[in-house]
Amino acid sequence: MLKGIGASEGYGIGKIMIVEEKKLEYTPHAVADVTAEVQRYRDAVAAFIEDTKEQAAALRISAGEKEAEIMEGHIQIINDPAMGTEIENLINGGTCAEAAVEQMLDMFINIFSMTDDDLTRQRASDLKDIKRALLAHLLGISEVKISDAPAGTVLVAKEVTPSMTAGINKDNIVGIITETGSQTSHSAILARAMEIPAVLSVPNALSQLSSGEQVIVDGTNGEVITAPSDEIITDYTARRDAFLREKRELEMFRGRRTRSASGEEYELCCNIGSPKDAGKAMEADGEGVGLFRTEFLFMDRTALPTEDEQFEAYKAAAVILKGKPLIIRTLDIGGDKEIPYLGLEKEENPFMGFRAIRYCLKNREMFKSQIKAILRASAFGDVRIMFPLITAVEELREGKALVEEAKDYLRASGIEFNENIPVGVMTETAASGVIADMLAKEADFFSIGTNDLTGYTMACDRGNSDVSYLYSPFQPSVLRMIKSIIENGVKAGIPVGMCGEAAANPMMIPLLMSFGLTEFSVSSVSVLKVRKCIAKWTKAEADAVAEKVMTMSTEKEITDYLKSIV
Ligand code: PEP
Ligand code: MG
Repeated sequence: MLKGIGASEGYGIGKIMIVEEKKLEYTPHAVADVTAEVQRYRDAVAAFIEDTKEQAAALRISAGEKEAEIMEGHIQIINDPAMGTEIENLINGGTCAEAAVEQMLDMFINIFSMTDDDLTRQRASDLKDIKRALLAHLLGISEVKISDAPAGTVLVAKEVTPSMTAGINKDNIVGIITETGSQTSHSAILARAMEIPAVLSVPNALSQLSSGEQVIVDGTNGEVITAPSDEIITDYTARRDAFLREKRELEMFRGRRTRSASGEEYELCCNIGSPKDAGKAMEADGEGVGLFRTEFLFMDRTALPTEDEQFEAYKAAAVILKGKPLIIRTLDIGGDKEIPYLGLEKEENPFMGFRAIRYCLKNREMFKSQIKAILRASAFGDVRIMFPLITAVEELREGKALVEEAKDYLRASGIEFNENIPVGVMTETAASGVIADMLAKEADFFSIGTNDLTGYTMACDRGNSDVSYLYSPFQPSVLRMIKSIIENGVKAGIPVGMCGEAAANPMMIPLLMSFGLTEFSVSSVSVLKVRKCIAKWTKAEADAVAEKVMTMSTEKEITDYLKSIV
């Protein structure tokens, strides 16, 4: 078995086709007739553009609009005057066209490869693709034709480039294995768009595998099973069929409202960490964003983001959501979320310490600048503010007072914002659970953060394996806490959502439906699964399950029962 990165889910069983790129060799030489050489270069570019347009058209059908745009982006890159003029300058100086192309593109490839940013590194891979294609045109070499691959083919390549992907016939290619690439590389994005199982970054895949050999590509677990026995093939065939069946069933839930079997409606939102994720949430058919974890905007940098930078990020997300709800959680740092430039002191008990709302209320200028940025973004959509780690009513009051101060400032400056922006509480501490009735009187909504709520209720550090057996949202104490938070919210007439991981747990869903939760916020990949899960239960059935569970006194009893019915 070979291990790699599972970059596109699913199982493919088939025979290997090694796609080794031909060597594009030439001898650099000085040219005398530079005008003719420039023309040879321009002809190669014209042929490249022609090919690329064809490939983009093919991709538009096989993979979708976005993938076609990646391909069309290659035309823009080569048409960039900076690039073209520099290459022609080199040729005019006597360098042959091949060497000029290689020199210029290599320079950009080196610059882009050195950055830490995944997307910029990805540009390097685009440039490599363009370089190969241009050199192939200049040298008159035609590349391997993937479009000729027979049904049941598993492609093995160093890297799957967009131009290669254009030749892929989805009906024939059952799996992809590469030596390089990550979850965010083009190979991964394209494989996912084409719904072909893929395992990337398999070391020495090209030398370890040979054409014609049968393999199983397990894109779900990132494994390539070589020389599978009949028994293993039968096992994976069953897994593949079940995977495809479930996928088909899930797709039936796309574009539908989130409803129980008895017709009650719920809101099904997504958790995001960046404006880009907001796009993913929409693609996943999310109905809004129930948690924007803003700390990611503060991480991986050396100084605080300015109010404007934050505004741009929040506004971008709001614009992408086109009026759908966007709950922005104010900065939640400390605990396990470190931001080195803030110079937070090491604490004995970081999870019990100076974090989230506590830190923000002591760093008011920073906090106010975030609140102002959120308020400004509220002019562009249904933006809401949420405070993390609330443990006392005063914290909510102080936070709300700062929101009012920020509003005064914006009003005086003539800057638009939503005067009625809802301000909610993330109920994720035992304290907030116990005083949920009091908080509900002063908050516009609740969102239950079960990741922390479980830890704080059970007094249990999830990172400590000695006590991890206690860390379960199905502990009777945590369930009582969740039920009480929801009931108190309902009694006060405010909406209650859940943005902790438990919201996507099929065993938790009927309980939440029964307790009166109105919004589920889950990771984008879980949207359809959760919608399907909710559709399975009538309210009466969910009530019966919840009633039974709430009489049980151990976590094991509860989970054994729930496992038996979901
Ligand atoms: C939670 O605590 O449940 C939650 C969603 O917040 P985070 O995981 O960011 O702490
Ligand atoms: Mg939390």
